[in-house]
Amino acid sequence: MSLTPEQALEQAALAGIHRLQIPTPFAVGRVNCYLIEDEPLTLVDTGPNSGKALDELGTQLGQRGHSIDDLELIVVTHQHIDHLGLVEIVAEHSGAEVAALGVAAERLANFDADAEADDRFAVELMLRNGIPEEVTAALRSVSRSFRGWGSHVAVTRPLADGEVVEFRDRGLETLHRPGHSPSDTLFWDEPRRILIAADHLLPHISSNPLISRPLDGSSRRTQALVTYIESMRRTREMPAEIVLPGHGDPVVDHVALIDERLIKHERRKEKICKLIAERPRTGYELAQAIWGNVAVTQAFLTLSEVIGHTDLLVNEGRVREADDGTVIRYESV
Ligand SMILES: [Zn+2]
Repeated sequence: MSLTPEQALEQAALAGIHRLQIPTPFAVGRVNCYLIEDEPLTLVDTGPNSGKALDELGTQLGQRGHSIDDLELIVVTHQHIDHLGLVEIVAEHSGAEVAALGVAAERLANFDADAEADDRFAVELMLRNGIPEEVTAALRSVSRSFRGWGSHVAVTRPLADGEVVEFRDRGLETLHRPGHSPSDTLFWDEPRRILIAADHLLPHISSNPLISRPLDGSSRRTQALVTYIESMRRTREMPAEIVLPGHGDPVVDHVALIDERLIKHERRKEKICKLIAERPRTGYELAQAIWGNVAVTQAFLTLSEVIGHTDLLVNEGRVREADDGTVIRYESV
């Protein structure tokens, strides 16, 4: 018998882990940050860089008898701005250490240059996959307008994959599980079977495996969905009882949820394979065939989803990329 999400929250709270729900300006709604009442007093993620988020964080910490100044450690789960925009401000106020995956530290430190490079990368990828120039320009300005909710992060405590972060009452094992983003990091309390998973696993929405620049700064793109599926399979093997996600309620049956996700990706892959068998298509044409107008308004998201699946098909030898020098079309082998 698995717990209900409410019972999972209660059980996590008994283990000293409390969910704080911080507002964001994004469609995803509030972001979950987790306060760990232990030594050091720890906050996992902070929410975006806004006065509203800072106010709420202060209020919700206050409800538990703490203030921002009391925090001793901030843990960053991944590179997305809804999770880390406030880290620098909170660290400055509190003097807390900032722990994050070491291989992501340079990216986190160079937020502005990095966001600009991300935008250029996204525009190039969209143009190569047949998305019209005016759509890419519009998305680029949307992305610029969001940048203020982010911030650079100075990591003072770089973590290695597998490293255990020691507390008075627990140890949390650092697990690098990329896919949703290249820096996705999980924190595992094995004796309590509690996994802090951020956006690696979300209860109601499938995590988008966004095509990204690799953490090592090389110019090739990630095979985000291929990587994400590998990461999910590893998580599936874990004896977790409670998975604490970055948005929404706890996941209490992660095996069933992961199986559901894997089946969905399998179906979508076959659907895309059929569309390509009808005739060669660009990533944009595939996205339009599946999502219609959403492929325009959410062009990067839907393109990431399409390319994730064509990567699977290319790796299986069923589809290949035909590059005419301007755009890439996918065709059957
Ligand atoms: Zn995210």
